[in-house]
Amino acid sequence: MEQEYQKVWDECLGFIRDNLTGKEGENAFATWFKPIVPVKFDGNTLTIQVPSQFFYEWLEQNYAEVLKDAIRLTLGPTACLQYSIVMDKSISDSPITTSIPSTGRQSTINRAKDAPMNLNRNDRTDFPNPFVIPGIQKIRINSQLSSSYTLSNFVEGECNRLARSAGYAVAEKPGKTAFNPLMLHGGVGLGKTHLANAIGLQTKEFHPEMTVLYVTSEQFMQQYMDAGRNGTTSDFVHFYEMVDVLIVDDIQFWANRGARTQEAFFHIFNTLHQANKQIIITSDKAPSELQGLETRLNSRLKWGLAAELLPPDVETRMNILKQKMRNDGVVMPDDVIEYIAYNINTNVRELEGALISLMAQSSLNHRDITIDLARQMVDKFVKSTNREVTIDYIQKVVCDYFNIPIDSIQSKTRKREIVQARQLTMYFAKKMTKSSLAIIGLQCGNKDHATVLHACKTVANLAETDKQFSLWIDEIEKKLKD
Ligand code: ADP
Ligand code: MG
Repeated sequence: MEQEYQKVWDECLGFIRDNLTGKEGENAFATWFKPIVPVKFDGNTLTIQVPSQFFYEWLEQNYAEVLKDAIRLTLGPTACLQYSIVMDKSISDSPITTSIPSTGRQSTINRAKDAPMNLNRNDRTDFPNPFVIPGIQKIRINSQLSSSYTLSNFVEGECNRLARSAGYAVAEKPGKTAFNPLMLHGGVGLGKTHLANAIGLQTKEFHPEMTVLYVTSEQFMQQYMDAGRNGTTSDFVHFYEMVDVLIVDDIQFWANRGARTQEAFFHIFNTLHQANKQIIITSDKAPSELQGLETRLNSRLKWGLAAELLPPDVETRMNILKQKMRNDGVVMPDDVIEYIAYNINTNVRELEGALISLMAQSSLNHRDITIDLARQMVDKFVKSTNREVTIDYIQKVVCDYFNIPIDSIQSKTRKREIVQARQLTMYFAKKMTKSSLAIIGLQCGNKDHATVLHACKTVANLAETDKQFSLWIDEIEKKLKD
């Protein structure tokens, strides 16, 4: 006759299977649930046997919810799940028995005498002294990764190519590339957190057995101080040394403070590095500019690869906007996207902010998203942060005005209308931005500062003497200020 525990477990499995959907779910089911063997049911507690410690941790880490629901649904609200772990032969022949209610709320651990007696599967017939790992529940690690910051929605551009591809390589072979540590640095809102998180997720996809952990440096420091207070510093250190891929976000936070936290991290870093475990770090400054960090630690950061995230160029900004819109199921006219992409050039977070406000505005006031609405919105953004018109945007307005392709400004051509457009761009760039002559020249076809100066003089002269030209200037200026 079929055992009751088998029936109960089969029912749970049915529920679990229904709740793990898609190809991924199917794989997860086959990998993590098929190998489980039910071994005991006492009317309230179902005991399942899992093949290893790791297996147990993985289940608790990733499938605690679905397991809990399955048990509760099948057996009622007070039901418990208990794991029985079969230790690796090399460690011991005995099964470890521990009881983890999948809620995590209670934590009864079976004493040896309570050990399930019907564990005798897989020819493991003799279990003289089942024992308990003290504190086993503590090992549950939540990777703290956010599922929305993935690599596939991290738009690639010139500005992040190196960092992104190094990140991918690291995810493929954590700890086995020269990029250890991988240090991602760059200004605020340029995607450090997103990319670091995405590398973590990608690593888990390639290597489900690995333990990935994301922490902010602030959290790390807090934990370290708490551990010191509670006398659990060595637990703290052990915990971190167990991790396969450690991601620490924003370590500039430690600059000029937390000398002891840095010291602790330094030791963890060394242990992990020696064991070929991967370390990923983000910071708003390059290692060489990170002042106030302990010298020893700072020099470690230079061992691997420091990859910079730069502000995205206009094309990447456009792609990012389009992607965000795709994700949110929003449609907007192209000119609106262009307008935002050209005008908000500081960082991706602001770009997103502008897009979100625009969508909010339009839905609140039941207005279509038009270029006018975008202008008002961006104006607010621009004014509120005192942002100036960009050279990119000036180029665009001037080229649109004369109906010439925007890249002609960059070209070598000496055609009169192009030369004129280029000169006007330089003139307005000088007038309306804080950029130096050299920078303006660089962005307008790689010219030197003398050329820019000459252009400004020429335009000023023509404005005085040439009626047509002066009209153009007025009209373009109006568009730029619009
Ligand atoms: P940082 O940590 O450097 O301050 P974040 O990673 O928090 O920046 O990025 C800010 C926002 O911009 C996030 O919402 C992120 O998803 C988005 N973002 C940044 N770079 C990209 C990119 N290349 N593609 C898509 N979204 C991006
Ligand atoms: Mg960040």
